[in-house]
Amino acid sequence: MAEEARKKIEPVRSVKGTRDLLPPATGLWQRVEEESRRVFEAYNFREIRTPVLEETALFRRSVGADTDIVTKEMYTFEDRDHESLTLRPEATASVVRAYIEHGLFNDGGIHKLYYMGPMFRRERPQKGRFRQFYQIGAEVLGSDHPSVDVELLEMLALLVERLGLGNSTLLVNSVGCARCRPEYVKVLKRALEGVKSKLCADCQRRAVTNPLRVFDCKVEADQATIAGLPRILDYLDPECRQHFEFVTAGLRDRSIAYTIEPRLVRGLDYYTRTTFEMTSGALGAQNALMGGGRYDGLAEMLGGPPTPGFGVAIGEDRLVLAVEEAGALRAAVGLDAYIAWMGDGAYGPATKLARDLRREGLSVEIRRPTDAAKLKKSLGVASKLSARYSIIIGEDEVAKGRYQVKDMTSGQQEEVEPARLVAYLKVRMGTGG
Ligand code: AMP
Repeated sequence: MAEEARKKIEPVRSVKGTRDLLPPATGLWQRVEEESRRVFEAYNFREIRTPVLEETALFRRSVGADTDIVTKEMYTFEDRDHESLTLRPEATASVVRAYIEHGLFNDGGIHKLYYMGPMFRRERPQKGRFRQFYQIGAEVLGSDHPSVDVELLEMLALLVERLGLGNSTLLVNSVGCARCRPEYVKVLKRALEGVKSKLCADCQRRAVTNPLRVFDCKVEADQATIAGLPRILDYLDPECRQHFEFVTAGLRDRSIAYTIEPRLVRGLDYYTRTTFEMTSGALGAQNALMGGGRYDGLAEMLGGPPTPGFGVAIGEDRLVLAVEEAGALRAAVGLDAYIAWMGDGAYGPATKLARDLRREGLSVEIRRPTDAAKLKKSLGVASKLSARYSIIIGEDEVAKGRYQVKDMTSGQQEEVEPARLVAYLKVRMGTGG
């Protein structure tokens, strides 16, 4: 009766669209992050860490006040002192803010920065789409030369290769610049007048307010009409055309496959020239792995000196998903060694050995079992923990000065002196000796 009377306490659950990443899955996330860092640093990018929380005005100005992100998807709240704050929906704006705030432009050079971390957008959750998701990004600030675009695209090609994602497609386009784009927008507007009635309600509105946004439309029935619209590539001025030709020639030179995608258009004024996206065949409907482009007008819009920029934002959730699907990268799971000790006299030497191995960077587990005398049970624990080796230490082994080392994959067992154990294991793990 007392049971029934007791009020049932509902456990608190994670917020919709957010998720916990648990081991062993986190191992794969770490591998993806390590590989990204390695590739980025090889190209001389260095890490920047900016706050998750920013003034709302930063995103209104950079992402654009009339975008879906800003109007519908931001987690914005009023702080206790009535300041409007937002959980960042992306990080380029923060990187450029930091670049201006810390006067990085003062040395006149190029800055190559990368970041990784959580972003927040209140979208409808589905496979590959979350409200807290993770991006890995890289930005080059301070050069408008197309060689920067080519180098970053080459770096991304290396990253996907390293992650075993052969099935990826690079899509590129150019959106021109503030000089040549207005002419194209006029042409596009005129073309839209003729076909507007065939498009969805959102596109009919966009056709008037911001025609370039029509290209963001995801409505299946609209796609054929959109494909028939004039292409921005046909309206580039000579400088923008030259820039684009340099980029595509550079990609061909370096044997990086690409497809020109005229629908890859960004509707904000500060976007210039190259835009790109990489999709993965390993993903389903949400197949965009990463996207980016040139934003030569952004720093000025945020109150800084004119600073050309080029960058990428990679969706880490999708990258991990694609890596999982491709199965090419394995996270190091499991232990290097489990120490199975038996008898009170073995406990001291066993813990000492555990400490020595751990100091050498090996991953080691030792437990105080309730039933320490049963070797079989101990080895059962070692298998469950996916240990590569079990080190068996009983009182006899302590007396003899030789421990039993069992290879848990082959089942082979050898006697090894404690002083030689570190070297013995390291050689077998392929980490030197
Ligand atoms: P964007 O910042 O919108 O250009 O997005 C860059 C990349 O981030 C996309 O290609 C996706 O891989 C990823 N991404 C964007 N929004 C989400 C989301 N809600 N959930 C998971 N990944 C996302």
